[in-house]
Amino acid sequence: MNLLWLQGLTCSGNTQSFLCAENPSADEVLGMFEVLFCPFSSWEVDMEEVILKLLRRREELNVLILEGAVGGSDHRVCKRSFAEVVRELSRRADYVIALGNCAVFGNIPAKYDQEVKGLQYRFKQMGGVLGRDFRSRSGLPVINLSGCPAHPSWLSYVLLQILSQRKIELDELGRPKELYAYLTHHGCIRNEYFEWKVEAEELGKKEGCLFYYFGCKGPMTHSSCNRILWNGLSSKTRVGMPCVGCTEYDFPREGMLETRHLMGIPDELPLGVSKRGYILISGIAKTFAPERLKKRLMDEDSKETAQQD
Ligand code: SF4
Ligand code: SF4
Repeated sequence: MNLLWLQGLTCSGNTQSFLCAENPSADEVLGMFEVLFCPFSSWEVDMEEVILKLLRRREELNVLILEGAVGGSDHRVCKRSFAEVVRELSRRADYVIALGNCAVFGNIPAKYDQEVKGLQYRFKQMGGVLGRDFRSRSGLPVINLSGCPAHPSWLSYVLLQILSQRKIELDELGRPKELYAYLTHHGCIRNEYFEWKVEAEELGKKEGCLFYYFGCKGPMTHSSCNRILWNGLSSKTRVGMPCVGCTEYDFPREGMLETRHLMGIPDELPLGVSKRGYILISGIAKTFAPERLKKRLMDEDSKETAQQD
């Protein structure tokens, strides 16, 4: 199977992320394909030549990966508009993968330019560069791996599924359900704090939930960040940084590290939770929260005493 990896308007964050892939590594995964061009491994290959060859129908294309958003008429490659080239290559590909939030939803480049789009979306609006009805030759719409950046294992998972010809179930935004049916909240080690309404009062600490003061989007963001850990070790919420919802269409938002409230109730509640339910349950939980959750996990005073001894 051959594979072509193109970059649109991007900071290369998804490339950087994929280079950190482990078990299997980026090399191992790409080694299973005939790579026609990839920005970080095709040093001696002329990308424009490869594209022109494909456009002249001299080669079939199995997997097209696009990292980055697609710009307007001044975004060009091979002396043609980049959007046109992407459209044509996508029609020829068996599978089209949008890698990262820019390729999926437009993300930051689209915020500042109306012409910029993702492959099959522009933020929430379906259509994008390829149109709402686009299907690749396999019959699938664009396989959307949103995230800023997407986790390296998410791309490995999809490529290995394609290679072994296994079915990839997609959600309503074209994201593989196996990876995006979960919420960041699932597997977060702060869940006990969330349940008992014990809130973190500072960023970067081990204790407390980041929902009420720091805008954590974990309970409304589809990602497996706390199930498939980053570098096999950790995640944002595990180290005391709120989830900023980078896998969703409305990323990036204003005021990402704060929770807006109306009369003490957060404007946005966890998916599926009603205002009434939230008020009722949070009131009870707060009253009966176990004392041990209100303390530091490691007692700083006793640590200092031990050091003095
Ligand atoms: S920190 Fe965020 S993800 Fe973790 S429990 Fe709290 S709300 Fe959920
Ligand atoms: S924790 Fe949230 S913001 Fe961080 S990478 Fe995962 S989905 Fe994106």
